[in-house]
Parts: sequence; structure tokens; C-alpha cells
Amino acid sequence: MQVEKIASKGANKDSPAPKVSFVSLGCPKALVDSERIITRLRAEGYELSREHAGSDLVIVNTCGFLDSAKAESLSAIGDALRENGKVIVTGCLGAEPEEITKQHPSVLAITGPQQYESVLDAVHRAVPPKHDPFLDLLPPEGIKLTPRHYAYLKISEGCNNRCTFCIIPRLRGDLVSRPAADVLREAEKLVTAGVQELLVISQDTSAYGVDIKYAASKWKDGDVRAKFLDLSRALGTLGAWVRLHYVYPYPHVDDVIPLMAEGTVLPYLDVPFQHASPKVLKRMKRPAAQEKTLERIKRWREICPDITLRSTFIVGFPGETEADFEMLLDWLDEAELDRVGCFRYEPVRGATANDLAELVADDVKEDRWHRFMQRQQKISTRRLKRKVGTRQQVIIDEIGPTVSKGRSKADAPEIDGTVYVASKRPLRVGEIATVKIERADEYDLHGTAVGF
Ligand code: SF4
Repeated sequence: MQVEKIASKGANKDSPAPKVSFVSLGCPKALVDSERIITRLRAEGYELSREHAGSDLVIVNTCGFLDSAKAESLSAIGDALRENGKVIVTGCLGAEPEEITKQHPSVLAITGPQQYESVLDAVHRAVPPKHDPFLDLLPPEGIKLTPRHYAYLKISEGCNNRCTFCIIPRLRGDLVSRPAADVLREAEKLVTAGVQELLVISQDTSAYGVDIKYAASKWKDGDVRAKFLDLSRALGTLGAWVRLHYVYPYPHVDDVIPLMAEGTVLPYLDVPFQHASPKVLKRMKRPAAQEKTLERIKRWREICPDITLRSTFIVGFPGETEADFEMLLDWLDEAELDRVGCFRYEPVRGATANDLAELVADDVKEDRWHRFMQRQQKISTRRLKRKVGTRQQVIIDEIGPTVSKGRSKADAPEIDGTVYVASKRPLRVGEIATVKIERADEYDLHGTAVGF
């Protein structure tokens, strides 16, 4: 969970422009929503402030995915009310306004996820903009909350799936894909502004375009269809790393693997498998649950031996038996995934999974989580060790006095490992260096820059 108070460059205490303090909570998709709202606010002449106190208004972009995230959102709203008093709430928790008003009846307005216009309307009502065409000049890529060298690129909103543990479709609605040309234009602006890595996100990236019947749109001299493969190929021409997140193992995903093998997009797939037992997957109502994933993974590796596979899993799903769990452990051994996250099932209020079968006791969940992590840890460590002695391209994220931090093509920001890079010549943030890998530990790699 991520909390950021965002400050604008050049915010000026004496400026007559209204000042807004912004809190962004939740996942990368929510972060992109925050970026869009902030970009619009800056375009209209609002300034951003680091502090709630002294601002004209606070906007809290909330997360409502898990009960713990809801609690965090409600507490951030409470802080904003205490420190400022004028608060507008948006984001996933905004889809359940009564949850907010019960605790915080004095918020000025509540809007749901992706309701950018409504947020802006509420801001205009609370603090009208002061338009100044000179102050309002914006960088063409908009305001990014990520460091300058990487950016999240949201290709669609909402989701057509109905996984039983998830309330996102209820909060964010059905799938709405952006036309391919819109996505590409945004990506192009980002790359022109210095972004070196585009992180493609959505709720279900492989379903991109289904809702708009894969409609083509004009980009440069031709048409690009709103298809996962076509969009990936076009993004790969922009000269930045392209990383694909939240991809389900539908058969058509196989078509994108050759693009990874030829270097058009990064050889990296983030596939949230969630479980391996067919019975559990069926109860979860997972998309592409029927696909033979182990065979699939084998084929992906034949086509692109360097591919990095990341996934997430849930243990202790209602009705999960010891046999289901053992099946998951065996599957892990065979799949040999590179990076894995594991969650203990959390009975989110409103999720249909809670009533499907008996809930698994907390101590059993805990025990399974530890066993899962131990099993996967050995696999991840083994796979990482194979990189010792190789040369990897590493994008530099942070400069240190002797050793800088970066990521290889196998590491997405925030969720994967770090490459610690020693270098004779000073490195720059966003630079891509060739690094000879000398050592691996459980999660991270260590090496020396040998080429720039
Ligand atoms: S794919 Fe499933 S888990 Fe992901 S957002 Fe859609 S319903 Fe939720």
C-alpha cells in the first residue's frame, strides 16, 4: 500500500493560485488515476502543496480492495479533516459512500473510481480555479508520480471477470478499453519526456479491446487494432522498455512471447495464477482457469528462454483442503516461477467467495503461507543464482555513494528485486548500464557496471 503526499515543483507560498494537497493510496492503477486528476488540476492553474495545513483543499484518492486498505483510507481522510477540514474523497472506496460518511460526515464530496470529471467539478465548487495561462503551462506528458524514467500506462479500466474473492468489478465497473492510438500517443509523449520504461497495467491486460471489438484507430501512418498483441508490438517501437503486467494465460497470450524473444517487449510476464488446484480455481472463477498452465509455461520458455515469470497466489481460500494446497506446492516445483507473491485469503466484505465454502482457520492459513513461501524461496533463489556470471542490462533507479540501485529486465519496480551496481564512473538515474553479475542473494543481485 502506498501513501504519497505530492508536492508540485515550484509551488509558491505567495502565489494567488489555489493550493491542493493530494493523498494517493492503493495500487498502480489508482496512482494513474491520481496522475490524471493532478494533471488536470495543474492545467487549470491549481498548485499542489506538500502539507494539508495551509492548503485550500485536500483530495484523498482511496483504496477499497481489502478491509485493511479501507481502514487506511478512512484514517487518511480523518487526518485530512483534522489538519485541513476541506476534503474531497475519490477512488475505490468512493463507490461505497456510506462507509465514508458514517465515519466522516463532513467530507465535501465523494466520487467513485475514474470519475475524473466529478472530482474536478467538486474541486471547482469548493475552490474555483484562477486561470493564468503562464502558470498553467504543463509538461506535455502530464504530471507523473513515478520517477521520471518509468511510468505506468493504463490501457483499460474495469474488468469483465467476476473472480469470487474480488470486488473490483463492483467498484470500478466492466472493462472499458482505451483506443490503441490514445494509449500510443500517451506512451510516445512519455518517452519523448525521458521515460525509459513503460509499465502496461489494467485489471486484465490480456482482455484488452474485447469491449470495443478490437477496433482499429489511426496512429502515425497506419491503423493499430485495440488488441493485446498489436498494441504490444506498436509500444515496442517507441524505444523504451515495455513491461506487461496482469496478463492471464489465455491462448492468445502465446502470440506475444515471440515479441519478447526478439526484444520488442521485455521478456517478462506478470501472470496472477492465484492457485493450481482446479477445484479452488473453479470456486475462484478465475479467467483462463481451464488452460493447461504448466504446458503453457514450458512452451513460453522454449520460445523465449530468458523469460521472467512473476505471479501472485492466495492461500487459505474458502474450502481449500490440504490436498488442494499440496497440489499448489507441487505445481510450484514444476512451474519454477522466478518471482512470486503470496497472500493469505482475506474475507473482503461483499466478496461472494466468503459464502462458497467453509473459511479456512487463521492458523492453517498462516501455516500454509509459511510453507508456500519456504518452497518458493528455494526456487526463486536457485533461479536468481543462475544469473551470476552473466551480463545484464540494468536501469538505474537510485544513486548511492559507492553502490547504486537498479533493476534488470527481470525486475519490475516496487515488487521485484534490486540489482546493486558498483561503477567506476558516476551513474545517472534512468541510465541503462550493462552490469556483470557477481553475486546473488535471496532476492537481489550484485555486480559491476562494465558498459554504458
Ligand atoms: S480479473 Fe478477477 S481479480 Fe482481477 S480485477 Fe477482475 S475480477 Fe478482480
